[in-house]
Amino acid sequence: MPELPEVEVTRQGLEPHVLGAQILAVVVRQPRLRWPLLADLNQRLAGQHILRLERRAKYLLFHTAAGTLVIHLGMSGSLRIFTRERAPGLHDHVDLVLDHWGTRQWLRLNDPRRFGAVLWQPLGQAILNAPPVLDGLGIEPFDPRFQGSWLYIHTRPRAAAIKQVLLAGQVVVGVGNIYASESLFRAGIDPRRSARRISEQRYEHLAQAIRLVLQEAIAAGGSSLRDYVNTDGGSGYFQQAHQVYDRTGQPCVRCTTPIRHIRQGQRSTWFCPHCQR
Ligand code: ZN
Repeated sequence: MPELPEVEVTRQGLEPHVLGAQILAVVVRQPRLRWPLLADLNQRLAGQHILRLERRAKYLLFHTAAGTLVIHLGMSGSLRIFTRERAPGLHDHVDLVLDHWGTRQWLRLNDPRRFGAVLWQPLGQAILNAPPVLDGLGIEPFDPRFQGSWLYIHTRPRAAAIKQVLLAGQVVVGVGNIYASESLFRAGIDPRRSARRISEQRYEHLAQAIRLVLQEAIAAGGSSLRDYVNTDGGSGYFQQAHQVYDRTGQPCVRCTTPIRHIRQGQRSTWFCPHCQR
């Protein structure tokens, strides 16, 4: 599943190919994604220019003068650019036909499991074909306000385990299952600990750890970045060396205690019972 780093690397990979491009047409082959696509998406978007490509949590926001095309990659989605027309495959559900400074190209969404989303938000209005998915999101982990004090203040009313508070995305976005386990290990915090029973100083370590693990993943994805142009290239999701994630029974990299695996709210958590408290 694409996590924040994959989505950010996708944004960085696509940006030079779509910025300033005019949308000539939207070709929808499969409107049944996570939410049904608007029937008149082509009429709404044709002629618009992509002015800015932004990421918010795991959403990609293609800003135009008429509004914002919001794309989520779901469980299995990927975006590719083609500079030659090529026959769509089974899971190539949507194409944006683009004129990029005089060059014709195709931005193609492939999504085998169809949990992805293609949403339209007219300027100054709510998203038309889905609930307001961008409302109520926590701040970005790279927002300067995201510090230990932010975590401390916003977890005072939360008795839930810190791991689950991170995953919920209301305090900070983009800390998915891998990065929650990894950052809690680096900060030395037991994932089962109640969020409101963690000191501000420990939250400072956690905020730093979250930024670090995400930055490392983005850098790893950027360096191993598959070409976004004219490749089918699978999902493009990247695997990193993890310190606790998916390492059940293997020795902790710090103290050699076997890494433990538990379930928290249907999700797997890994941690070192010695280093994390
Ligand atoms: Zn350890």
